[in-house]
Amino acid sequence: MFRGKKAQKGTKLSKDEHEIHAHLRSIFKNMPNQIDLLLFTSTDKKDVFSQAASAVIRSIKEVAPNVTLREFDINHKEAKRLNTEHAPALFINPDRGINIRWYGAPIGEETRTLVEALIMLGKGETHISADSKKILEKIRSPRKVKVFVSPTCPYCPQQAVNALKAAIENPDLISLEIIDIQANPGLAEKYSAQSVPQVYADDRLIALGAQPEELFMLSLEKMEQQTIFIPESDAKVVDADLVIIGGGPAGLTAGIYSARSGLKTVIIEKSIPGGQVANTPVVENYPGINQIGGKALVDLMVSHALEYVKIFPGEEVLEIEPGEGLRVRSNRRTFNARALLFATGAEYRRLDVPGESRLAGHGVSYCSTCDGPLFKGKKVVMVGGGDSAVTEALHLHNLGVDVTIIHRREKLRAQEHLSVSLLQSNVPVIYSTEVNEIHGTDRVEKVSLINNTTGGKSVMAVDGVFISVGYNPVVDLARKTGVEMTPDGYIRHDGRHRTNIPGIYSAGDVEGGYKQIVIAAGHGSAAALAVFEDLINPYWKKEGK
Ligand code: NAP
Repeated sequence: MFRGKKAQKGTKLSKDEHEIHAHLRSIFKNMPNQIDLLLFTSTDKKDVFSQAASAVIRSIKEVAPNVTLREFDINHKEAKRLNTEHAPALFINPDRGINIRWYGAPIGEETRTLVEALIMLGKGETHISADSKKILEKIRSPRKVKVFVSPTCPYCPQQAVNALKAAIENPDLISLEIIDIQANPGLAEKYSAQSVPQVYADDRLIALGAQPEELFMLSLEKMEQQTIFIPESDAKVVDADLVIIGGGPAGLTAGIYSARSGLKTVIIEKSIPGGQVANTPVVENYPGINQIGGKALVDLMVSHALEYVKIFPGEEVLEIEPGEGLRVRSNRRTFNARALLFATGAEYRRLDVPGESRLAGHGVSYCSTCDGPLFKGKKVVMVGGGDSAVTEALHLHNLGVDVTIIHRREKLRAQEHLSVSLLQSNVPVIYSTEVNEIHGTDRVEKVSLINNTTGGKSVMAVDGVFISVGYNPVVDLARKTGVEMTPDGYIRHDGRHRTNIPGIYSAGDVEGGYKQIVIAAGHGSAAALAVFEDLINPYWKKEGK
């Protein structure tokens, strides 16, 4: 335990404690900045947290000449000025443009956090990484951050220090409360903070558990928990052997196989890596895994791919110049490559009925994983009869959404076990019926239905319309580059994933066939191996193409 000079007088310090004190003194001695601490405590003798806070902070002050400490009773007018009723409450530099408060006693593991905070402020350096700084600079609106911690949690200092860095680096927008759940059971109860560390921003849960610094900053920027951080690149020109367009299972697997064959490989992804799978509530029967969330599966694939390849997320390819030295122009930079792989996947199909586009985002949704929770306790329809529609209807049902499937045939197309689960969950299915209009002024209010056998028309009042009627391949760029298509609109290839253009390949849902994650992944690996063999021994040279 950390003990100050007063403690030294009363009790004998151990050798280790002497060393810690001496070390802290030497650190604090050379700090250029003064730090003001304001501590509010309760005079109630039974308030052990107030007593502990006072003891620890006084002890720290004794080894830190640049720290000033003012202590007040929680009923003092200073507490009103700073708008706090909690005791103990520690304010750090409250009148120096920083808004950091600590509810509880910085004891146990939390002493580490407080010492780190004082060192950062005293030295005027947070040692935040360049990537974290870039992310913080993207935050444009205020964030009220709450980090729930406990003195016995060894992971908490990491997350609390992340939050401190954000609040110190961007004091105009980020305020911070570090809340000890043991000293503040009421606050912990209010936020259901039963495990620590846990972070809220503007009362939204943004992180559970300790995160690396960049992931914390990304969660704070996006206002939801992030699981993967991909550093940004400033390079204007990138040279590679293989450029893969699309970061779904096909592209990610191709990336892993290609890089492991020794080819310098990059993946360019227009949105976030993962493709359709990232929005799939549950994936079943990916070999080796009985059942897994789509996002969790994607995170595994992305983390694996990042060990070998560079991923450029949020970057759109605008133009491709085929040829011996391929050139790929994105909205950010130029890639020079020897080969290119289209793994652009497929995008959700629309119903193309009146009201669909106008009310998209206002009750019309194509993603139950993203929007399902907003419809808890509400009535929605799920349009479609395939695996996706049934999987997503089951997901909505489990979320507490009142969901009815509308299917245009008299039988579902979904796999047997999914249909059985649906039956067991008592999710109603209206067969031989189509949605022919979606109504609502500002948001969905009802749908018009038509029975395609009897011609009977009806109207159903609903709060939402989920559409899951299959996918169309994303082939515009390939078409523009001169890649040949099949009559169904998929990329035509020779069975080894070579397109009609030498050096350009395809894999995954853009090629059609069974749309299964494992198949897309398998085709991605096969395409990468074909690229590798062709770059060693180009078939187009032999064939004189
Ligand atoms: P899908 O299998 O093509 O099914 C699309 C469904 O939407 C069909 O029932 C189709 O009706 C219906 N539909 C199409 N256009 C429509 C329209 N304009 N109006 C009304 N209904 C329309 O697509 P999916 O369910 O998205 O699945 C895509 C692929 O992913 C499939 O290969 C599927 O097996 C796979 N998947 C697998 C899993 C898994 O757990 N293994 C989970 C999800 C998806 P018809 O029946 O009349 O054609």
